[in-house]
Amino acid sequence: MPPFDDRHAPPSVLPTGGVHTLWQRVRGDYTLGVLVLGVIVTVVWLLPFAVYRAWQGNWVAMANDLALSALLSGAAGYAWRSGDTRRAGWVVGLAIVGGIWAIGWAARFAALFWTYPGVLMLFFLVPPAAAIVLGLAAIAGAAALSWNELGGHEGLPFFIFTASLTALLGYVVAQQAQQHIRGWRTLSLLDALTGVGNRRLLELELAQAGGALGTLVVVDLDHFKAINDRLGHDEGDAVLRRFADATRGVLRKSDRLYRLGGEEFVLWLPQGEPQAVQALLQRLRVRVAEDVRAGGQPVTFSAGVAVHAAGEPWQACLARADAALYEAKRGGRDRAAWASPGPGAPARA
Ligand code: GH3
Ligand code: MG
Ligand code: MG
Repeated sequence: MPPFDDRHAPPSVLPTGGVHTLWQRVRGDYTLGVLVLGVIVTVVWLLPFAVYRAWQGNWVAMANDLALSALLSGAAGYAWRSGDTRRAGWVVGLAIVGGIWAIGWAARFAALFWTYPGVLMLFFLVPPAAAIVLGLAAIAGAAALSWNELGGHEGLPFFIFTASLTALLGYVVAQQAQQHIRGWRTLSLLDALTGVGNRRLLELELAQAGGALGTLVVVDLDHFKAINDRLGHDEGDAVLRRFADATRGVLRKSDRLYRLGGEEFVLWLPQGEPQAVQALLQRLRVRVAEDVRAGGQPVTFSAGVAVHAAGEPWQACLARADAALYEAKRGGRDRAAWASPGPGAPARA
């Protein structure tokens, strides 16, 4: 099974509302946290400043502050609702650079101060290479637009060095956070005993797949309780690991394997034409007979197979596979049973 690719993982926590939920989601996703910071900047700084600018009659600066407020809070709201922090991160990353330029142009020296939190935040919003480019653009723009306030050539090296140091800090912290989150996410989606995907990963991937799913097979080891009783729980665990390894060995690249729990596994075969599925189950039967033994005795399995019907929810397809598994058990075990076609599916030849 290919390693889980977390770039496509949906947000781990779904919005329900309330301060508690806000805190939980922000803790679990640092980009969302930085986006929420953008909202705080909007409310406690930009909006009061927009009012102050209006009172001054400085309409250009007011329009600037309002435009930035709309971008920052709009992006955070979008990320909150959709879970798509990547796109929102880009919007806010670009808004930070544009904002620093606009501040430098309208208010001169203030751009120098904003550069520090700005370049720090960039590394939590966009990929590192992009953050470096945007950070350089922010630093260069602020230095050029606030040249006199900076102290010209005299202040420039100090500004560049200290702003770069801040950016480096952002890079280090963001990288570490990302590594931890990746590691944690991978752990939470893999089965600790066998290393295959767990039930949560199965649900995530099937829910994301949409469209035609191919074929789902529920596989259950036969008389597994007797193996435990005869040889002990540890040997039972070893059998489960050997079975998972044997199954991985016969799968094609596109096939996915999950442990549903206990001695029950699910095979998801996106390219699941009946003949190919039959051939695969046959290969698995041979491989398990060769490689998976418990106290010298062969281990067998039963399987329930369901071909996904167009428009059918994956849960219904899995339930049909499960019902077919029950048929295989009733029919004497060590065999596969095919579920009757799902709703709307053409009858199988
Ligand atoms: P059948 O052929 O009808 O499937 O019979 P079975 O004995 O395989 O099924 P049953 O559901 O009666 O027993 C499953 C056993 O699997 C019971 C449980 O103790 C054991 N089991 C569940 N999870 C684990 C595990 O992680 N490790 C081990 N060693 N045993 C487990
Ligand atoms: Mg069993
Ligand atoms: Mg079972």
